[in-house]
Amino acid sequence: MVSRTGRTLFVMVARGYSGARGNGSARGYSSARGNGSSRGNDTIHHKLVVAGGGTGGCSVSARACRALGPGTVAVIEPSEKHYYQSMWTMVGGGIKQMQQSEMVTAEILPKPCKLYKTRVAEFQPDKNTVVLANGQKLSYDYLVIALGIQINPGKVEGLVEAFKNDPTVCCNYMKDTVVKTYPAIQNFRGGNAIFTLPNTPIKCGGAPQKIMYLADEYWRNHGVRDKTKIMFNTSLGVIFGVKKYAERLLKIIDRKHIEVNFRRNLTSVNHLKKLAVFEHLDTGDKETYNYDFMHVVPPMSAPDVLKCSTSQITDEAGWLDVNKYTMQHNKYPNIFGLGDCTSVPTSKTAAAVASQNKILLNSLCQVMKGKVPDGKYDGYTACPLITGYHSCIMAEFDFDGNPLETFPIDQGKERRTMFYVKKDVMPQLYWRLFVNGKWGGPKPFRKAMHLWMCR
Ligand SMILES: Cc1cc2nc3c(=O)[nH]c(=O)nc-3n(C[C@H](O)[C@H](O)[C@H](O)COP(=O)(O)OP(=O)(O)OC[C@H]3O[C@@H](n4cnc5c(N)ncnc54)[C@H](O)[C@@H]3O)c2cc1C
Repeated sequence: MVSRTGRTLFVMVARGYSGARGNGSARGYSSARGNGSSRGNDTIHHKLVVAGGGTGGCSVSARACRALGPGTVAVIEPSEKHYYQSMWTMVGGGIKQMQQSEMVTAEILPKPCKLYKTRVAEFQPDKNTVVLANGQKLSYDYLVIALGIQINPGKVEGLVEAFKNDPTVCCNYMKDTVVKTYPAIQNFRGGNAIFTLPNTPIKCGGAPQKIMYLADEYWRNHGVRDKTKIMFNTSLGVIFGVKKYAERLLKIIDRKHIEVNFRRNLTSVNHLKKLAVFEHLDTGDKETYNYDFMHVVPPMSAPDVLKCSTSQITDEAGWLDVNKYTMQHNKYPNIFGLGDCTSVPTSKTAAAVASQNKILLNSLCQVMKGKVPDGKYDGYTACPLITGYHSCIMAEFDFDGNPLETFPIDQGKERRTMFYVKKDVMPQLYWRLFVNGKWGGPKPFRKAMHLWMCR
């Protein structure tokens, strides 16, 4: 990857850097142009452009349409379908069907939005412009970036071929591979079952192990568990980032007789020989495992369009550089961002996006009025840690890993009720409220349930 200094130099040379930023400041920033108006040079102008129409993009554009009125918002999203990815653990476990996790993008976006069904090819923040994959340019007064995280299976040697050709290698993180998981679990007849977690940030950090607990229970119920060795080969040095939930998970792992190999990172797969090679991240040693079933979570990164940008839109690692409390960009005051593509230091989940989209809209409206955003996102995120076909630990926590639980019960305990909240309540919440920009996270309920004696 090009270094930050290299990128900055490149931008300065390419633009004949004068020291002044072409961008307006947050205060007094205004546009004299209407929505969808042409700039005469094939550039189309919108008051607000939203890049990405996934969980973050959908929820923000719905809120923005209501706040700013019809004809103000354009969304750029290439995917024909919108996916409720949080359901994919259950799809992989055979509890839900793939079709229940998808809807047509054009139907889920608010009607007054203008949809550009293509990708952003380049951000030009100094010109308040984005370039689309078809070469068209859109200019904006305000920009929201919600591109999600990029999944990079090609970074593990042999993995793309294994996903394509080996029915025993599956992955809940991608639409084409999640549908392989349940058949692979059903067809497994015993041997080595390996579950991996890569050496990069990922979305939903709990998902690599949730599917393992479902598979364990399925194999127990179908008489193959006693012929099976389950291994969790994780790049991390802990089972989960929050102490309270980590302690409970280790007990479950013990109870289920699962072997955990910490600090192991998958480097190559040979599906013809059914071999997986892991690097021990502390010693650098290579370890080769035979597998009969493998659920692989590939390495992930910020999307290339951000990571490879020559502008100052990202941090060193390529994530969109936003203020973690307000979602406003740290350098460009008319740019905002949310979700998995950002530098916000919390666990990358839809639950986090729920809280962020409300804060973001407030910040955006404040900036439009010439005010300084005063939002205070607390890092709220959640991970329903499914531990079986009827049990779930409902992990909810903040920036510092402090539990921020909604219900006035110990959510670190495996509970049947929480399983049904995840399975039946959350999908309703997502499709009816969240994507329509009417769900800003559970904070009001948490406060009420704790009689206003909590954060
Ligand atoms: C298996 C799995 C289990 C999960 N479980 C949970 C859970 O239990 N709870 C939870 O809260 N979260 C969970 N998540 C995480 C959750 O789905 C994500 O954190 C959430 O979707 C992030 O929203 P986002 O808008 O940032 O990204 P996304 O929803 O991924 O949307 C990004 C959008 O940007 C679009 N895009 C990408 N590149 C471009 C481009 N160049 N131009 C234009 N558009 C582009 C994509 O097509 C996509 O639609 C899970 C995820 C997975 C995969």
